[in-house]
Amino acid sequence: MQLKPILVAAAVAAAMGSASAETVDAVVIGSGGAGLSAAVTLHDLGHSVVVLEKMAIIGGNTLRAEGGINAAETPQQKKAGISDTCEQFFADTTKGGHNLNDPELVRTMTTHAKDAVAWLVSLGADLETVGRAGGAKYPRAHRPHDGSAIGPEVVKTLLNASKAREIPIRTRNKALEILTAKDGSVAGVKVQSKDGKVYTIDSKAVVLATGGFGANQDLLVKYQPKLKGYATTNQPGATGDGIFMAEKVGAALVDMEQIQAHPTAAPSGDLISESVRGDGAILVNAEGKRFTNELLTRDVVSNNELKQPGKFAWIIWDDATRRSAKLMDGYEKLGLTVKGKDLDELAKAMQVPADNLKATIAKYSADQKAGKDNEFGRPAMPQPLTNAPYWAVKVQPAVHHTMGGVKINTKAEVINTEGKVIPGLFAAGEVTGGVHGGNRLGGNAQADIVTFGHIAGQTADAFLKANR
Ligand SMILES: Cc1cc2nc3c(=O)[nH]c(=O)nc-3n(C[C@H](O)[C@H](O)[C@H](O)COP(=O)(O)OP(=O)(O)OC[C@H]3O[C@@H](n4cnc5c(N)ncnc54)[C@H](O)[C@@H]3O)c2cc1C
Repeated sequence: MQLKPILVAAAVAAAMGSASAETVDAVVIGSGGAGLSAAVTLHDLGHSVVVLEKMAIIGGNTLRAEGGINAAETPQQKKAGISDTCEQFFADTTKGGHNLNDPELVRTMTTHAKDAVAWLVSLGADLETVGRAGGAKYPRAHRPHDGSAIGPEVVKTLLNASKAREIPIRTRNKALEILTAKDGSVAGVKVQSKDGKVYTIDSKAVVLATGGFGANQDLLVKYQPKLKGYATTNQPGATGDGIFMAEKVGAALVDMEQIQAHPTAAPSGDLISESVRGDGAILVNAEGKRFTNELLTRDVVSNNELKQPGKFAWIIWDDATRRSAKLMDGYEKLGLTVKGKDLDELAKAMQVPADNLKATIAKYSADQKAGKDNEFGRPAMPQPLTNAPYWAVKVQPAVHHTMGGVKINTKAEVINTEGKVIPGLFAAGEVTGGVHGGNRLGGNAQADIVTFGHIAGQTADAFLKANR
């Protein structure tokens, strides 16, 4: 007896543990801020959508973000009397990225980040206050009113929106491959479910939102051999899967060697947010002396830190700084801090010379009162650091952000190695390259993921409507 081809295929599929296909309008791969933004947008434009997440936890690196989401010309800035502009936001971003950024992508992000913030607020996010991050001329990092971390607020908001819309989010479902039709357009996704079964979802639109590769040592070292053995601030799922999947269907990659180290990671990889320096904390070396303007960009501060004895620093804040933002209490709860009721006790806990530390703080406080950092030209000194008790965390540079990735245009369409759009394939967030150039500014990743996640949803909608 001769089996019909379709039965053979089914028998093979069954033998391989794969199940038959389902069909949806769009598949979103990755449940971080970029993926959830795209999914909610697609749903609201009338499409069926499934979100795949390979980890057991929803939120990716987005959940870890602490500082803020950057945007200019927002009502929150206006209320606080901050005269920022989208033009200045653009200038800071390209300068911070060493002008390696794709200017059109930066223009899109810096113009539309205010819409992304307004959209999140419309979905219930608390983004009431504005803080300062490194490399920004004006405070533009939006965050909850009590200064708590931004990532959980973004994920909570988008997750609540997804739940309210009954968007299926399949955790422990790993996308393995993007499927294409003969003409090269997207046809679906091959997935491995939590019980190991391989199945396919037929779909004309796929949004890649798989994040970066900051937790993939092999890939990091391939592009930057000096990063061998570096700790990472990233979640273990940040392994660059989307980059491999996109490459397989012909996508071009950009800026893969542009990898950012963050200067204030605890030895465990736990991050002390840049906003803590923005709120007033300083850095001292093993001798208890300052060595840098703490508000320079991450690459510069990391390099300055690596020139210090032992290649590490201490980040120090006082009680007044702590009271300005709730997230600093979290570091103590995590056991990352040493504490002193005064500077003598702190110096002892840090094992630095007490006289040096006291002289450093005295000089900094005097400069703060005079309104000018005579030593390092720090542009903003919000606190005199005279309010005991004090806290300190030993910090070092750790891999933090991968600026390179899949090439996209301003509509979040994926571009192939011949410079053409891959029909039906969209990408947003840290899986993409070009937005941040040679160095990402603090607060710009959140702006990137929500702005381009939303745009990816809108472009996929237009594509689906044109290809019914
Ligand atoms: C500790 C820390 C603090 C930060 N703080 C800030 C900040 O204050 N401000 C700021 O702007 N930026 C910050 N960032 C950077 C920012 O959080 C990230 O760049 C951004 O959240 C990435 O969002 P994303 O949606 O692109 O990816 P992610 O949020 O990482 O989400 C990608 C998801 O895709 C999943 N995935 C990967 N491969 C697959 C696959 N094959 N199948 C299914 N799912 C898959 C991952 O598991 C992950 O959940 C911080 C980053 C870290 C690590």
